[in-house]
Amino acid sequence: MNFKCSNTGASCGGVNYETWETSCPPPDPWAMVDTITYHFAKEYIHRNHPRFAFIGFDETDHYGHEGQYDAYLATANMLDNYMKDLWDMIQTDPQYKDKTTLIITCDHGRGHAGKTFWHHHGPLVRDAHQVWMAVIGPDTPAKGELSKGKHYYTNQIAATIAKFFGLNYTTDHSVGKAIDVVMQ
Ligand SMILES: [Zn+2]
Repeated sequence: MNFKCSNTGASCGGVNYETWETSCPPPDPWAMVDTITYHFAKEYIHRNHPRFAFIGFDETDHYGHEGQYDAYLATANMLDNYMKDLWDMIQTDPQYKDKTTLIITCDHGRGHAGKTFWHHHGPLVRDAHQVWMAVIGPDTPAKGELSKGKHYYTNQIAATIAKFFGLNYTTDHSVGKAIDVVMQ
């Protein structure tokens, strides 16, 4: 693809840059666009059937930092719908159906102690280290929401994924053990 600069604007294959419209305009030039991320990932999974896939989303974090609560909620709702769509795809694909586990989690929380700091996170925001994880799959008992009992940590997620594959995760630094409550 060649972009040529001229005083009439960049052009690509005779299409003027200024009149080139995409069907999914980015809502914010600084944010990763989760819609594009999701659809690329979905297409890749559909075409290549990997045994493991990781999809990282960005918009809730971005809009949180921006303090745009309406966009934050809209993105969270959109990602809920994408997770449903992904699960529906898994359950209609013969290679994945009833053999695939979907793990949804986040790398940090935002705390709930100081409501005015909801859009920040990090060591100075109390309770921002608290996260959640959702697991659905054929080996995971349907126990609903578990908020009491044992504490689990994000350093256990890699070992948990490995255990779903029947593998024992080891590395040169210390890691947590697989989370037993999500597998039977
Ligand atoms: Zn952040």
